[in-house]
Amino acid sequence: MIANYHTHTWRCGHAEGSEQDYVQQAVNAGLKTLGFSDHTPYDFFDAEPRNPSIRMKPEELPEYAAAIRKFANEYRDQIQIFTGVEAEYYPKYFPRTLEMLKENGIQYMILGQHFLGNEIGEPYCGRPCSDRKMLERYVAQTIEALDTGLFLYFAHPDLIHFVGSSSVYEREMRKLCQAAKRTGTPLEINLLGIRENRHYPNEQFWQIAAEEGSTVILGSDAHSPQHVVDPESERYALALVERLGLKCQLSIDEFCIKSKLCAAGGGTR
Ligand SMILES: [Zn+2]
Ligand SMILES: [Zn+2]
Repeated sequence: MIANYHTHTWRCGHAEGSEQDYVQQAVNAGLKTLGFSDHTPYDFFDAEPRNPSIRMKPEELPEYAAAIRKFANEYRDQIQIFTGVEAEYYPKYFPRTLEMLKENGIQYMILGQHFLGNEIGEPYCGRPCSDRKMLERYVAQTIEALDTGLFLYFAHPDLIHFVGSSSVYEREMRKLCQAAKRTGTPLEINLLGIRENRHYPNEQFWQIAAEEGSTVILGSDAHSPQHVVDPESERYALALVERLGLKCQLSIDEFCIKSKLCAAGGGTR
């Protein structure tokens, strides 16, 4: 890997290590680009108390952005660092979230849809489920997200853990891959899933992605500095790419990263 755009920090409550450790690890491994993409905060206004082990609080966002910018500047001769977030697409909170991210100079969002609807009262997408309604909702909601044109890429699109009919899975996921293609959004093979032997990457999903001519990108999804690069999982992912004949993209053009949120509409200002 020469670039990784999927990196967390301690602020989400389930990652460890200092930013400097992540950066140093990336430099040592020869990465040219490191993007931080901690779980975005949401201002749920009216909703239940927040779970502190999922993501930072909205009031922590300015400090996060400033910390990453500081390292981007300090290390600019050694590595290119971007300030991003991993975000779900929650229609109810999306305009306000976009505004908050832009106000804080966040440069990009990757889509990581961990819950459906607007999260509150919804189950985790990664728990096994045979209800096709849930799969259909996941696909419809993430297609809506892709159609905003605001996401740099789609992290672990195969997070949804559907254990029902394989033909239903194929039909739905094909729609998702087609939307990714239409909107020019790369799909991420998630190295955390490989590292922890999770239910993703899902072979059937990536077979469909290959058939649809999807572009894929690897993301280390580091929650600890030692995983900023992960050669073993990377080899596994590249073998999958090779075996299925997927098109793999190594890095994303700087202009493309910088133009995503800056050019954003979405009902802001
Ligand atoms: Zn996380
Ligand atoms: Zn992540």
